[in-house]
Amino acid sequence: MKRIVLTGFRGTGKSEIGKILAQRTGMPFIDTDTIVEERTGRSIPAIFHDDGEERFRGFEREAVASLPARDAVVSTGGGAVLDPRNMKCLRRESVVVLLTADIDTIGARLSRSPRPPLTDLSLAEEIAMLMDKRRRAYSASADFCVDTSHTTPAAAAKKILGLVKDGVPSARQRERGIAFFRAGRIPGPALKKLEEILSLKTHDPQTRILGVAGSPAAHSRGPYLFNALFHRYGLNYHYTWFEDPRLDEIMEIGRGLDAKGLSVTIPFKHDVLRHLDEVEEHGARQIGAVNTVVFSCGGAIGYNTDWIGVRKPLVPLRGSKAVLLGAGGGAAAAAYALLDLEMDLTILNRTPGKAEALAEQFGCSWKEWGAFDSIRPDLVVNATPLGMEPDIRSPLREEQLAAGMTVFDLVYTPPMTPLLEAAQRKGCTIIEGTEMFIEQAREQFSLFFGIDVPSGTIRENLK
Ligand code: NAP
Repeated sequence: MKRIVLTGFRGTGKSEIGKILAQRTGMPFIDTDTIVEERTGRSIPAIFHDDGEERFRGFEREAVASLPARDAVVSTGGGAVLDPRNMKCLRRESVVVLLTADIDTIGARLSRSPRPPLTDLSLAEEIAMLMDKRRRAYSASADFCVDTSHTTPAAAAKKILGLVKDGVPSARQRERGIAFFRAGRIPGPALKKLEEILSLKTHDPQTRILGVAGSPAAHSRGPYLFNALFHRYGLNYHYTWFEDPRLDEIMEIGRGLDAKGLSVTIPFKHDVLRHLDEVEEHGARQIGAVNTVVFSCGGAIGYNTDWIGVRKPLVPLRGSKAVLLGAGGGAAAAAYALLDLEMDLTILNRTPGKAEALAEQFGCSWKEWGAFDSIRPDLVVNATPLGMEPDIRSPLREEQLAAGMTVFDLVYTPPMTPLLEAAQRKGCTIIEGTEMFIEQAREQFSLFFGIDVPSGTIRENLK
């Protein structure tokens, strides 16, 4: 039988519920903290006290890596989800259930526990601080979520077994989902697979859905990439196209099908904000756009990974003088990334008023498009669609570029744009838009599953 893994904060009931699940399924119960204690011959508090948290995390990682691949119920330490290497092991061919509880309940349960605190804060403050710090990792760890605040361990175990056996969406929600996808432009074989997943006759209740939400969305390469990665990491998920001009409908279908999350694209990156229960402050909130929605424990959380996709390849250029071409959604994410890298940034745009507004939003400079030659930047970032098929014009003339400049074109179809070709002829360092796509997808995968996929693996799986 598939492994059932329990994650969650201390005091959410992992051990007690795990033991009941083991009894009811006939599988052995394994606690990673117990493995660590047995192997080291010391208690967890003694390891924390003598060797510190980092050493404990090393022992924990070894314990997680040595778990049996199936036929077991596993309870993990509260911080195990923070390490992407643990998540890679724990998620493989497993059902992961996140146990949650409110702070008061956890506080009451922990006040009876002999385990020492991890910080110098009061118990309630420590719980609130750590839960906040781990929120992203907990939501990424979970296939299913069960709140144990007001249930007995036996009732929570029963609920988990029900989720494993039946999944979450009702028959009606599955039928509605099939009708929604049939109305989209999903390629034949992909639609057949989706119908199989959602059909009452053939479905595996544990298979979860994700997808790219947009209008149009059919051009997105996301489904090919994500489905290849699910296969590689042993994840029971399927990624598809949520193409519809009505964002309300997409969100309702997503919630109804208990989707794990959505990649959000044109034209919904801003509108999606009003459908969310929470928006990440550093990034999405400040950019004013969301390209990633994670559905977690009944809520929808919004993130922006576009800016991370721009930032990652530019880290070595921290502090440079930069020009950003464009003032749309991609440019806002790029401006946020460049300013996060403390660059001296000037925004140029075809419609100067929009450059001015974006510059005001972020507190940087803007100029008329024609002012490019007076700036002599170290870095040029193109965030206009110029160069994207079929409009394959370059936003700059070759003579405007000079050796020593770095040119980053966010356009990725084609990968080698006329701007990059001109820059290469001039001896500039060039960065293709594919790099942004790779890094933002990598971050998205980490938000959905807690696993850190190497950039090279994403590159290999791009079609
Ligand atoms: P957007 O919100 O529609 O903004 C487009 C911007 O380009 C606007 O500032 C617009 O200027 C300007 N523009 C459009 N046509 C132009 C033209 N013919 N000449 C000069 N300026 C022009 O689009 P976006 O979402 O920011 O996307 C921009 C580009 O970034 C697209 O090519 C997209 O593929 C790329 N992108 C890449 C990734 C990736 O992962 N690599 C991710 C996101 C976006 P006005 O204000 O004057 O209209």
